[in-house]
Amino acid sequence: MVVSTINGTSPLSHSNGTTIPLSTFSRNSFVNVEKGDPVAFRPYWEKVRDECTVEIKGDEWMSYLGDTNNLCWYMVPQMRDAILRLHNVVGNAVTKDKFLVLGTGSSQLYQALLYALSPSESSHRPINVVAAAPYYSEYKDATDILQSRLFQWTGDAALYDKDEPYIEVVTSPNNPDGTLRVPVVNSGVEGKIIYDLAYYWPQYTPITDQLDHDVMVFTFSKCTGHAGSRIGWAFVKDIEVAKKMIRFVQLNSIGVSRESQIRAAKMIGVICDGYKNLKSIESDHLFFDYSKRLMKERWEKFKGAIEKSKVFTLTKYPTSYCHFNMDLSEQYPAFAWLKCLEGIKDGESYLEKLKIRTRGGGRFGVDAKYVRVSMIGTEDEFIELCTRLSNAKRE
Ligand code: PMP
Repeated sequence: MVVSTINGTSPLSHSNGTTIPLSTFSRNSFVNVEKGDPVAFRPYWEKVRDECTVEIKGDEWMSYLGDTNNLCWYMVPQMRDAILRLHNVVGNAVTKDKFLVLGTGSSQLYQALLYALSPSESSHRPINVVAAAPYYSEYKDATDILQSRLFQWTGDAALYDKDEPYIEVVTSPNNPDGTLRVPVVNSGVEGKIIYDLAYYWPQYTPITDQLDHDVMVFTFSKCTGHAGSRIGWAFVKDIEVAKKMIRFVQLNSIGVSRESQIRAAKMIGVICDGYKNLKSIESDHLFFDYSKRLMKERWEKFKGAIEKSKVFTLTKYPTSYCHFNMDLSEQYPAFAWLKCLEGIKDGESYLEKLKIRTRGGGRFGVDAKYVRVSMIGTEDEFIELCTRLSNAKRE
């Protein structure tokens, strides 16, 4: 196997002190930046691994129940408190006067919301579910997999012209293109809106507002990178919607793993304690400082590679004031959204030839000249991606 070093040199060091290992990629192996597995923040969690360790004894957390005094009866109080504390520290959402519904990842809450927001009378036609293209590639399949009589995927929200009930999913910052979004449907009928705020965290975008919508969904996966814990949550204004969601989760999985909740609560506690002890802690030990710096460094490197390649253009992002970091900042999205220049019709196939696996525009409801590239994979993968992209030349 030909082992290539990063830029042909010895291991590199980050400004945060962590060392980037030598690349293990051979010329024939693929760099897979197709998925959005958020493993980029692992070095941070390695540094604080002992503080984060949770021990669960054999007799603990056996019951289905988490807190019978809470509407969301399968959520343990530690999880609820940690989520509320996190939003209080970051200031990205108004949590007062809302019901907190926990899910096995936000993917389960998406399904729960479709069920809860659909009209219950059987005489209704399935409600239309839309999102502005390019939209998160999983919404379409997640909506249609069971061929439900309650709801159906109807595609691009910008093209929706029916005077019929609808649910619009607003993902902001958006997956795949990182743009900040508002509802776009123009219809005579009032629709229901799901705000998917998976990426509304300070490492990806300035926190400009404390959002206060009727339905807001967050995920632990993209906040801390612990996607495997499968923890997501929603703030819901209407108790009837919250009750229906909880019923869905009950029938779907009888709640959410209590072990996962305890671990997630611990991680969130470590993040929040850091910001409480601001004066006595190095900024490298502050999760959002660390993760934002990492995203910024990656984006700078990536932009350099794209400029060198002269094959793609990148989405431009505005600079805004971040209330959390108290500074002006750009966005550093979890995905890069590339547009091929004239002459390349299919970006995914073009990059496949360079041994870079990406997700093409078609999956997101747009033209194949667009591709999505993950910015949150391993460091090794990311460095190799930049090297290959900067060597890309127009055919
Ligand atoms: N919404 C968006 C926009 C996402 O990008 C993702 C993860 N890729 C999810 C929801 C699902 O996240 P999870 O089920 O891990 O909480």
